[in-house]
Amino acid sequence: MTELLPQVQAFLARRHGLHIAGQCVPARSGATLPVYNPAEGEVIAHVPAAAAADVDRAVAAARAAFTGAWSRLRPAEREKLLLRLAELIEAHGEELAQLETLNQGKSIVLSRLLEVGHSVEFCRYMAGWATKIEGSTLDLSIPIGGPYRAFTVREPVGVVGAIIPWNFPLIMALWKIAPTLACGCTVVLKPAEETPLTALRLAELCLEAGIPAGVVNVVTGYGHEAGAALARHPGIDKVAFTGSTEVGKLIGQAALDNMTRFSLELGGKSPVIVLEDMDPAQAAAGAAGAIFFNQGQVCTAGSRLYVQRRRFAAVTEALAELAAGMRIGPGLDPANQINPLVSKRQQERVCGYIELGLAQGARTLCGGAAAVDGPGYFVRPTVLVDVAQNARVVQEEIFGPVVVAMPFDDLDEVAAKANDSAYGLGASIWSNDLRRVLGLIPKIKAGTIWVNSHNMIDPNMPFGGFKQSGIGREMGRAVLDLYTESKSVCIAY
Ligand code: ADP
Repeated sequence: MTELLPQVQAFLARRHGLHIAGQCVPARSGATLPVYNPAEGEVIAHVPAAAAADVDRAVAAARAAFTGAWSRLRPAEREKLLLRLAELIEAHGEELAQLETLNQGKSIVLSRLLEVGHSVEFCRYMAGWATKIEGSTLDLSIPIGGPYRAFTVREPVGVVGAIIPWNFPLIMALWKIAPTLACGCTVVLKPAEETPLTALRLAELCLEAGIPAGVVNVVTGYGHEAGAALARHPGIDKVAFTGSTEVGKLIGQAALDNMTRFSLELGGKSPVIVLEDMDPAQAAAGAAGAIFFNQGQVCTAGSRLYVQRRRFAAVTEALAELAAGMRIGPGLDPANQINPLVSKRQQERVCGYIELGLAQGARTLCGGAAAVDGPGYFVRPTVLVDVAQNARVVQEEIFGPVVVAMPFDDLDEVAAKANDSAYGLGASIWSNDLRRVLGLIPKIKAGTIWVNSHNMIDPNMPFGGFKQSGIGREMGRAVLDLYTESKSVCIAY
């Protein structure tokens, strides 16, 4: 069991505030919301529950910072600030990892490696882009009034409202903050009400890194209140959202009213496609990682498993055996492989889906909705078979450790089934038959296709969805388009 650092205990015991213009302040109304430890089902902190008036203050602070000294900072200075922030996240890595595991529930191993490790790498990667933003020179053919010189410049979009989910709280905060700062924007970040703690600590580290007050503001609160007020705020120039498709549509609609730019990274129902040449044990291990990683609370979770019929029984039985052998328990014990879901609401939602699947004729190869001993919000890793392609458990995002497995006969059939979904975020193909893999890739409608891997994310690889999985690409050079506007300049000389 991981022993909590004294600074983690001290942080939990603090009176938490909103971070606006470099100050830590309560919500105007004085309202707070409770924060839980999902492994124990107990309250570990209270944070302000911001309302529209608080969001107004935060947006005003971000605007003042954007029009102030921040806009005159040289790109190399922004780069240096991001590098310093990365260094501080790394230096406080264990503290942030412990806070994340306490609040989100995930394994301390994942918190260290991904929440902290990936955040640091991503921050460093984005720091490099601050000095590499460029436009192009253009040859014009206008027949009168010339000659002309023309070029484009990319300017920061302005004040960004960022609304993030609870599945990877620190990573999601950095995915929004780092490109925002690299591009010269300022930000108001609203973390999920379930998982605000690392974002609050991050706001302090931003100041410590020397990022000017008001450039990064953090407003905690409920989605329908603080989140909605931010998305519809006329004072923001761009809203960047990661979360459910349902809420993403509300945000897009609110943004459009003000013609605020928006990008949406939404839900998924990603297929894992196993071709018959694949070794069943390797396929089962890959499928287990694809769905059980972070308890399936991953937008690209491999929640639909399609196995070529000849291998179906071998792969699904091996997967069920792996799942049944996974050790369930709190994330602070690194030996536990399945940790609690983030909230009681999420646990009930996932168990509801398992029961629904069984009611619609599915059979469990392992797992099920039965309670796990103890007060935490655990759900057993579950494999469902005998499900119809149109069943709700096949079509809807469950966001838990539940996979539906179905056989297929040929590649056109599996491509059609993989695409028979409202979503198009990720997909993986498991095979060493290059001809068949390369034949399948163009047929699958998804923003990322992995081959013999799944859920692999890299700062240099654009990430985003087709169809109802979203609009826009984060990471890589592509992310610069989300936080800059292109301006064309045409000079007659
Ligand atoms: P989930 O259903 O998995 O909790 P959501 O999409 O509801 O995911 O939440 C993602 C983020 O969106 C959270 O920060 C949440 O507070 C916020 N949110 C929820 N509802 C709204 C809304 N109506 N307007 C703006 N933000 C919202």
